[in-house]
Amino acid sequence: MSEILDAIIIGSGPAGYTAAIYLGRAGFNPTIIAGALTPGGQLVNTSEVENFPGFPDGILGPDLMDAMQRQAERFGATIIWDDVVSVDLQGPVKTVVCDQGQRLQARTVILATGSQVRKLGVPGEQEYSGRGVSYCATCDGFFFRGKPIVVIGGGDSAFEEALFLTRFGSSVTLIHRRSEFRASAIMVERAKANSAISFVLDAEVERINGSANSGAESVTVRHKDSGELTEVPANGVFVAIGHSPATAFLNHAVDMDGDGYILVDGASTRTSVPGVFAAGDAVDRVYRQAISAAGMGCRAALDAQAYLNDNQ
Ligand code: NAP
Repeated sequence: MSEILDAIIIGSGPAGYTAAIYLGRAGFNPTIIAGALTPGGQLVNTSEVENFPGFPDGILGPDLMDAMQRQAERFGATIIWDDVVSVDLQGPVKTVVCDQGQRLQARTVILATGSQVRKLGVPGEQEYSGRGVSYCATCDGFFFRGKPIVVIGGGDSAFEEALFLTRFGSSVTLIHRRSEFRASAIMVERAKANSAISFVLDAEVERINGSANSGAESVTVRHKDSGELTEVPANGVFVAIGHSPATAFLNHAVDMDGDGYILVDGASTRTSVPGVFAAGDAVDRVYRQAISAAGMGCRAALDAQAYLNDNQ
């Protein structure tokens, strides 16, 4: 452990990289701890991003994150490809410990770790994970060419995945626990207009069935009105039921709500600990967009700059 840095940014999604661009351009040379396994955040697992302003023809999620990384590096950001395992955020100098043992110190920390996939928690999910059960259609859709696929969820992610998976599956069935969808109207319209997609609604997945040799083979669903159980064939089971904030590593070093979302002071990005700021999906349970995370990353950088200037 040697120099005391101006700013450590934990997380490398739109919030983290935007904070780094702003801090870098202001001369604060931020260090980003980007994550070892999933740098770039959720957009790395997204296909076409059509709603990020400035890209009228859309841009692939990984390309957008690659561009953000290069932009942050252009303004002097240092990137460490590791996970943070523990933090000590009290006092004027904060300490961050990485998985490979590296200890870093800084006067400010920006928490921008985003969120991670939510699991169904039903029998068979863990057993067939990677053997039929997947949380990323872009990553795994290809493996189910010509096979029956189900997608579970009723939000934009589920609809995006279902539409994408029609390129591969012999059938795509979207299973949702209600008959109303959280997904935007345009996504629902597109899916309903696609004859390759069928719907099983008001139904909850009870378990995922399969065999040691073949992996997942079907899901058993319980129809909520009748209580009846039916089996839907599925070699690919894509779970798209949302995300939880990736904040467990903080061990409650800053105040959080009951679901683990970091609490900030009003419209600022200030957490309960002076010199520690938070941005993106680790804070925001409502908007959760790449552009809103980027905007919050900008605000976190400006809040951190104000703190650094006031506490020289
Ligand atoms: P989401 O909007 O929170 O939707 C999660 C869905 O999963 C809901 O329909 C929910 O059901 C269902 N669900 C949650 N827990 C469940 C459980 N234990 N068992 C069964 N079903 C469960 O999450 P998301 O679809 O990942 O989207 C997250 C955010 O990203 C949203 O703001 C979305 O608009 C955005 N997004 C945008 C795009 C795009 O614009 N292209 C693409 C993907 C995501 P209920 O409805 O009954 O609660």
